[in-house]
Amino acid sequence: MTTPAQRTPSGSGDLTLLLSQLDLTKLGALASKIDLAGLLNAAASMDEAQLKQLSKALGVGKGGAGQDKAKKPRELPVPNGDFFGLMDTLTPEQREVAGQVQAFMHAEVAPIMNEYWNRDEFPRQMIDAMRPLDLLRKVWNEDGTRKADATVMEGIITLEACKVDVSTAVFFGVHAGLAFASIALGGSAEQKAEWLPKMLDLRAIGAFGLTEPEGGSQVSRGLHTTCRRDGDAWVLNGHKKWIGNSPFSDFTVIWARDEESNEVRGFIVRAGTPGYEVEKIQGKTALRIVENGLITLTDCRVADTDRLQEVKGWRTTADVLRLTRAGVAWQGVGCAMGAYELAVKYAQDRQQFGKRIGEFQLIQNHLVHMLGNVTSMFTLCLRLSYMADHGIMKDEHAALAKVFTAARCRETVAFARETFGGNGILLENGVAKHFADTEAIYSYEGTNEINTLVVGRAVTGLSAFV
Ligand SMILES: Cc1cc2nc3c(=O)[nH]c(=O)nc-3n(C[C@H](O)[C@H](O)[C@H](O)COP(=O)(O)OP(=O)(O)OC[C@H]3O[C@@H](n4cnc5c(N)ncnc54)[C@H](O)[C@@H]3O)c2cc1C
Repeated sequence: MTTPAQRTPSGSGDLTLLLSQLDLTKLGALASKIDLAGLLNAAASMDEAQLKQLSKALGVGKGGAGQDKAKKPRELPVPNGDFFGLMDTLTPEQREVAGQVQAFMHAEVAPIMNEYWNRDEFPRQMIDAMRPLDLLRKVWNEDGTRKADATVMEGIITLEACKVDVSTAVFFGVHAGLAFASIALGGSAEQKAEWLPKMLDLRAIGAFGLTEPEGGSQVSRGLHTTCRRDGDAWVLNGHKKWIGNSPFSDFTVIWARDEESNEVRGFIVRAGTPGYEVEKIQGKTALRIVENGLITLTDCRVADTDRLQEVKGWRTTADVLRLTRAGVAWQGVGCAMGAYELAVKYAQDRQQFGKRIGEFQLIQNHLVHMLGNVTSMFTLCLRLSYMADHGIMKDEHAALAKVFTAARCRETVAFARETFGGNGILLENGVAKHFADTEAIYSYEGTNEINTLVVGRAVTGLSAFV
């Protein structure tokens, strides 16, 4: 019988075991020779007997070629952060998508992520590799309305991506969440017809420019970036900071304050527009694979036809942020779960004082604490997404989930890093990247403090904001 620890999202028995036993360097070399993504996608729907045959053919795991039976270590449970089998509560389609994302992350991202982390660069080829998964259409309809289970589906995609690499989820979240939602909620029929099909196909990549160098927390109280009507165009001036994907995106949605009315307006600013400059932010210590831009707008003329026609002031910006905040909470779940599973595996393998370190009570205490965190985060986010998809989620629900998961994620990755000892700060062991990326999760899309104040206001009826 398959135990919860052996289940995979696709319900395909030992895929996780198989993936955990493959050597990533060899996997990278293999990827250049065969259609690895295709193979792993096929593996996601195999039953256990077929997977065993595949394992045998690849020379890994039970019955692998050349393994000396006498030396085979006692079989230990496969690390699995889904201790309560929450994946089993998902629909078959949600589980299938989770399996596809898991296979994609292992085949296309894991082999190259450390190289791109060191290069401080986003692998553009990942966009072509991601296209066949058709992930945006799992969340959005062609006309920009959302699928009935959009938020749960987005959450599961985010979780599976973040288990391996948070940056990949951030690239996707900025494009498929913030940028897509800006046009879906704020665009006219013509604007949706022009941009949404290309965005669904990952043939036009979007960015979302709200935060300014003067500060992110206060943006709802007034933007420094301005727009001024001039004939059939608008003139934009100001700066935007931290704008994910913008160094290579086809357009950035720029939020600006109308000099005349003080109303917030949104613009589709196309790459290459005169007066629109993007400087890639260098030297980040988190999410180094995401490219963030510092944008300067100098008398940048944007046609009125590229003003988001249905934007109703800050209300629309807030609606976009509300749609995406649950996704950031899910990033914490995936990041923590990935770190936890790495830590369990390391505790099963690493020996000190003649024992596996997983035999030490203090290490078990770390692991169980981490698992408790991951389980409560996962449960909370599933409920949050269900509420969002049923129209009963309020800002304070998303804010509490973001506060809770970011804090628990920070604690979990720290325990995971600690479990690795000195090896925990080496990129090659995986956990260091999770440790660093958590710091960005903690601060963006509403810092811990700001989201705390949103919840505080809801529960007391008293606002701490000035
Ligand atoms: C990696 C990364 C990617 C990002 N991507 C994007 C993007 O694609 N698009 C975009 O528009 N933005 C993006 N951001 C910006 C992000 O949303 C902001 O960093 C965030 O909103 C916080 O703003 P800030 O960094 O200016 O901090 P500040 O607002 O300057 O806050 C500094 C500190 O003061 C605290 N503080 C502020 N006000 C209060 C208060 N009233 N009470 C108590 N404490 C308070 C904050 O909680 C924080 O601890 C990104 C940021 C990062 C780091």
